[in-house]
Amino acid sequence: MSSVINKTLSSIPVKVVGTGAKKGAPNFRWKRRTVQIVFLLLLVLIPVSGLFRIDPENGALVVLGWQIWFSDFFLVSGLWIMLASGLVVLYSVAGTVFCGWACPQNSLAEWANHMTRRLLGKRAEVSLNGEAPIVSAGKNKIINWILLGFSFLSASMLFALVPLLYFYPPEVVWSFITFRPDSRLAGSLYWIYSVWVMIILLDISVLRHFWCRFACVYKVWQHSFKTRETLHVVYDASRASECEKCNYCVTTCFIKLDPRKTEIYDSCINCGDCIDACNSLKAKKGSTGLLRFELGQRESGKLRNFRDNSMSLLSRFGWTMPFAALGSVMFAWGVWSYQPYHLAVGYMSANHNQSARKYRVEISSKRYRPAELKLAVEGLPQNDYTLSTSKIDFNTVGRQSVTLSILPKLQHGLHPFVVVARSKDGWIGRFDTQLFVE
Ligand code: SF4
Ligand code: SF4
Repeated sequence: MSSVINKTLSSIPVKVVGTGAKKGAPNFRWKRRTVQIVFLLLLVLIPVSGLFRIDPENGALVVLGWQIWFSDFFLVSGLWIMLASGLVVLYSVAGTVFCGWACPQNSLAEWANHMTRRLLGKRAEVSLNGEAPIVSAGKNKIINWILLGFSFLSASMLFALVPLLYFYPPEVVWSFITFRPDSRLAGSLYWIYSVWVMIILLDISVLRHFWCRFACVYKVWQHSFKTRETLHVVYDASRASECEKCNYCVTTCFIKLDPRKTEIYDSCINCGDCIDACNSLKAKKGSTGLLRFELGQRESGKLRNFRDNSMSLLSRFGWTMPFAALGSVMFAWGVWSYQPYHLAVGYMSANHNQSARKYRVEISSKRYRPAELKLAVEGLPQNDYTLSTSKIDFNTVGRQSVTLSILPKLQHGLHPFVVVARSKDGWIGRFDTQLFVE
């Protein structure tokens, strides 16, 4: 019985229907969207977590939640050397991939294109050559224009807050948003913020990818590290006949390039949209696309083999690796030797009648969190000096002064002594000095 059923089932013709992109063909779109969102989140998390920001109130940089002083040169220089080396390697290997996959300007411009098409129709493109956007008749309604304007203004107001996070702690930015009086906020901040809102609004309403194509200085900087081997889009010219009556990849490219003819120093941002477009088109016919990413020599003929390309790229890293190693060592040393507090002692005055000698003890906290320290003096008899206070509390970074008075009853002679500061979290600072009593 079962063999009869099997025979019947196997006689039914089965047709396999494609589900979009051919299995195995890369789809860059969703991966790119994920990277773009993660990068935007990082842009907010970096200052909020204290990883890096500027502290204008105290005129300092903040790295890893620590206030950076000139004496912490190794930490900040090592960090910059490491970052710069990593970026040079990225530009050499992947070219302007940062623009397509992470740059917030491009992410905002793509979002603005998406919103415009959604509310005004597929052909409603912003053009700087004076042509009005072609708005679909069915969508040319006042409500759609209002919604578009409202979404652009909301996005501009939201994104204009991000630069503030790099100059103020989150609680101060919150005071700014809620109009709460806060002495740490600069008086002109609402004006500065309004200017930022206007710039972003202009960018997403009009400029969009024109900025990327014609005005971005950062792109020019990235170009200076590109070579013929850098990641680029290649076109399978041997199948050029398949492109007859098709320019889908060209219309997909929001940078307005012809992906079949990319060059070393063109505006391509390696987003991969054209590759996805051709792949999805060809997948319907059970074939693969004519475009793909490639690392290697830009020759009209064959590509060099993987080993040659790898050697060529590795040879370029030869000079960046020592810098990356140097930066890592400097950064590690900076972190290891970082002093979260600073102790200094200075002679203040001696009365003419030599009644008392006073020292100013200055103690600074470089951490943006509460701290408690205790002061002591070693090497002097306890009855021969007084401290204006021996306990110091900090709410956040700051500096406090304590007066050390050495009483006149101290015996004649040289008196070496040490001012010691101990924090609750285990830091100990010592300042050696000496006093000569005639
Ligand atoms: S989408 Fe593919 S087939 Fe169409 S023009 Fe571009 S490369 Fe040719
Ligand atoms: S050519 Fe392709 S990869 Fe380059 S920007 Fe245009 S769509 Fe993106």
